[in-house]
Amino acid sequence: MTARKRIGLYPGTFDPITLGHIDIIERAVKMVDELVIGVAVNRDKGPLFALEERVKMVTAEMAGIAKKNGVVIKVIPFESLLMKFAEQMKANFIVRGLRAVSDFEYEFQMVGMNQKLNDDIETVFLMADVRYQFIASRLVKEIARLGGDIDAFVPAAVAEALRKTFAKA
Ligand code: ADP
Repeated sequence: MTARKRIGLYPGTFDPITLGHIDIIERAVKMVDELVIGVAVNRDKGPLFALEERVKMVTAEMAGIAKKNGVVIKVIPFESLLMKFAEQMKANFIVRGLRAVSDFEYEFQMVGMNQKLNDDIETVFLMADVRYQFIASRLVKEIARLGGDIDAFVPAAVAEALRKTFAKA
């Protein structure tokens, strides 16, 4: 019998991808054969970057990580209900990152609801390295908008994209 391929799904808005997200991805790939990074359309959050740009930025950072860890990483946009998307992707589990206590309440509720929708797909939580735990896309955008230095929070290409976006504004 061949072992079943372990597929993890890491969903998020990634507006834009930060070193915090990347740290979680580097931890998640150790647990799977394939990691799907689901980029949510998330119109409610009023994203700064268009969906295609977010997907492109995430994809650009993944080649090195996939090669180094010998795993397949797919970056796929989605608009449907998370659990439906997870089923489509044949994911065994969903990966979420936990920062401070502030993330806990929301994530706690989400897991409760998602278990009702599909109890076979587990949610696992990973913590980023202490150096990256405080990073949030929302704050990175705020700092960039005000002309601050964001190089310590995002990959170089993302920092460049943020600078360009706010230079235009
Ligand atoms: P969402 O809109 O789903 O919260 P995000 O792109 O903001 O999307 O985050 C995706 C996931 O990554 C979430 O589980 C979030 O808690 C986690 N995450 C974001 N930044 C960090 C970080 N610095 N450390 C650990 N986890 C993080």
